[in-house]
This record gives sequence, structure tokens and C-alpha cells, in this order.
Amino acid sequence: MNERIVILGAGESGTGAALLAKTKGYDIFVSDQGVIKEKYKNELLSNKIEFEEGKHSEDKILSAHTIIKSPGIADKSAIIKKAKSAAIPVIDEIEFAFQFLKGKIIAITGTNGKTTTTLLTYHLLCEAGINVALAGNVGESLAKKVAHGQHDWYVVEVSSFQLDGTKTFRPDIGILLNITPDHLDRYEYQMQNYIDSKFKLVQKMLPADQFIYYSDDQVIAKEVANRKIIPATLAISLKNDSASAYYDGREMQFSIGKNKFSVAQQDTTLKGPHNLINTMCAVTAASLAGASFDQVRIALKTFKNAPHRLESVGVINGVEFVNDSKATNVDSVVYALGSYNGPLVWIAGGIDKGNDYKMIEEAVKKKVRTLICLGKDNSKLHQAFDDVVKEIYETQSVKELVRMALQSAKKGDVVLLSPACASFDLFKNYEDRGNQFREAVVELVREFESKGIKNSEYRA
Ligand code: ADP
Repeated sequence: MNERIVILGAGESGTGAALLAKTKGYDIFVSDQGVIKEKYKNELLSNKIEFEEGKHSEDKILSAHTIIKSPGIADKSAIIKKAKSAAIPVIDEIEFAFQFLKGKIIAITGTNGKTTTTLLTYHLLCEAGINVALAGNVGESLAKKVAHGQHDWYVVEVSSFQLDGTKTFRPDIGILLNITPDHLDRYEYQMQNYIDSKFKLVQKMLPADQFIYYSDDQVIAKEVANRKIIPATLAISLKNDSASAYYDGREMQFSIGKNKFSVAQQDTTLKGPHNLINTMCAVTAASLAGASFDQVRIALKTFKNAPHRLESVGVINGVEFVNDSKATNVDSVVYALGSYNGPLVWIAGGIDKGNDYKMIEEAVKKKVRTLICLGKDNSKLHQAFDDVVKEIYETQSVKELVRMALQSAKKGDVVLLSPACASFDLFKNYEDRGNQFREAVVELVREFESKGIKNSEYRA
């Protein structure tokens, strides 16, 4: 009898795991308690993989030799508890994919900046002509990539939930960007549990591997000092000139092995101090993987980040509109505010995940001309900023929002949608919020154009 693998959750990672398991000849069953998306259902059907949706049939699940669970399913869920008490190993899809992967891995984690750094690292390797795949939380799952053929390098975005389900997963290069409180509901509200989860990135790394970390992050610095870290360490810093890469106030300075080189942020397509960190991490990883500095320098000029991350969507009458809808916690907003000199019309609000606005009070006082609250319950924003910002408005309509913003902005201002909150009160998700914002800006530009008013443009 073939070994039986049961996959819980038929999203990108679950379906990827099922496809890979299929190519390896396992007996497979996929179970999703919710509704499976059409795209994934079709993939399962066309590969003749047995599945169920809307339920978890225990008899079929608990007969597994191994369970691969979607990162969205918490350890405390009933079915995982039962699997564990039946002593069935429960792993993550990246752990499963790792067992069949032949190339090398750059794995990227952190509370914020994972997607940007992953996409940039991938871009740098691609442009250097390296045979590389992009996988993980961004794009296709690692398992699906491995099922479709082997690459020399894999650049993988990994979340803490995914790391929780790893045992042997070992990146050749690991990047840890930052650790700030997030998702604590999954970690018994213990920050240390969340930190331990992020450090699972290095748990199996060997002395010849490389661990790149942002050393100005106090949490990371403390852990690195107190833990026994096996791989070689490369610190990234915005201030410390003994780090492998640091910012000297003008340029990013790299010293990797015997090689030294520098790049100014103006010569990249990314803005803001957070992106200095992301860029230094990505460039360090890419050069360790074999990209030359000349290749990196050229590639940094052509990178296009994913949408909704400090994305300039248009200019109307000299006022720039920026979509940072992905900023769903206060920490991201710190960096967004740090990316502009002001004055700003700042748009925030949505579902508050326990925000502490104290950390941005100074920056808001200094830079924000107007705050527009875009949420159903804006009481926390009022509480935090009524005495800090002169003008505060509220709306639940994106069309109205864009007009309001333009009205209170002056030429040269930036209108910044960087909400610090989740979007589910008014939108499907952060993408929907960002898309609606972009569309409203485009519509307004068109309206100006139809009236013959120039000085406006939008970006496709
Ligand atoms: P993730 O995939 O970890 O959510 P993204 O690259 O999608 O990260 O960025 C999410 C948000 O976090 C962006 O809005 C950006 O403003 C902010 N951000 C990006 N990089 C960093 C960083 N290194 N430190 C803090 N915040 C960051």
C-alpha cells in the first residue's frame, strides 16, 4: 500500500502539495472545511486527486501517515488536535516540498517587507541570468514549483505559520527582516512564541549557510546575541558601519566577502528607509548566490514592486496619490510616513488589530496636514489624533475620499493611503481597498482631462 498523505486546506499551498504528492505516487486525500476555489478544484479534478469540501471527514483524515496542513489552520483547531493525539506527523507544505527539492534556497521572513524583499531578490537573480524560481506566499507554492521541475535556486517567502510546520527545512541563505508584534492570537499572546517561530528559519542551517538579519531590530539583535546561531551571520544596518551592509546617510555600503560596493537609493526604484533595509538584504543575498555587483546595479533600476506598497497611482494638480493599502499595522505606517517629508493627507482606518498609535504620534504631528478616516469605527483614530491633527474627516466612500483628499491637499502634498488597519469592514481585502482607491484616482484624472484641465496623470 502506498503511503497515505492527507492535505488539509485546498488553497495555493494545499493544492501545490497535492500535485507534488501525486507526482511522487502517494495515496492522497485533500480535505477543506470551506469552499474550494474553482481554480484549485479544477487542478485537483484534472489530476484525479480525491477531495472533499465543506467538512473534515475524520475517518479519512486520521488514517493518514502524514498530514500536510495549510498555514491558515491553527494548531489549536479540533482536527489538528485529534491528528496530534493520534501521533500523526503534521507538517507544512514547504517542509514537504523541501524533501524533494534539489536546488538551493533563499528563504525570507519577517513581520513586514517579506514580499518586497522576495520579489526584489528574485528579480536580481533573474536579471543575473540565474535559473531561479519564485515561490511561497508570493506567487505559486513551493510544492507546485517543485512538481513542475527543478531550478538551481528558489527564492521563497515564508510566514511564521509556515515555519511552525517545518522540521528539516533548511535554506542555504535565510533573511530575517524584522520582528514586531503581529498574529499574536496564534501564539497564545506570547511574543516569545512568535519570536521562536521566526527563528525556526535558522534551526537546521549549517555552518556553510548564511543568515542575513536586520541588526537594528532590538528583538532580533537580542535573540542573535543569546542564541547559538550555526550559519555565518551577515548583519544589515541603517547606521552601524561594521555591518555587512549599512546605510551611511547617502548610500548603501556593501562589504560581502572581499567585495565592496555602494549604491544610492535614487539608483533604485524603491523609496523610504524600510526599503533601504529590504534592498540591502536582497542585494546581499543575490550577491552571495552569484549575481555580480554590475548585474545587481543594473537590475535595481528595473525592479517593479507588487502593487499596494507605496505605489504611486497618479498625480492630480501637483498632488501625488500613493496606495499603501498593504500597510495593515502601525509598524508599516511608521515607514510609510518616514518615506515622505510632508505635508501629507493621510488616509487611515479599517479594522484595528490592537494598534498603539503612540509610536507614530510625533511623525503625524510633524507631517500630516489632514487625516481622513476610512472605516466603520473610527473612534480609536479620533482618540489618538484629535489633539494632534487639525483637520480630521470621515468617509466610507472611496470616491468621496479621493475628492476630499484633493480638496484639503495643496500642490506638492502627498495623499497617502496607509491604513494601519485590516480592510474587512468596508472591503473584501487590502487589494480590493487599494484597487478601489486607484480606480477612484484614475476616474478623477479622467474627469479633469475631460474638462481640459491638464497637470494630471495616472499610472496604468
Ligand atoms: P509582507 O509580505 O511581509 O507583508 P510587504 O513587502 O508586502 O511585506 O510590505 C507590507 C507593508 O510593510 C508595506 O506597506 C510597507 O510599507 C511595509 N514594509 C515593507 N518593508 C518593511 C520593513 N523592512 N520594515 C517595516 N515595514 C516594512
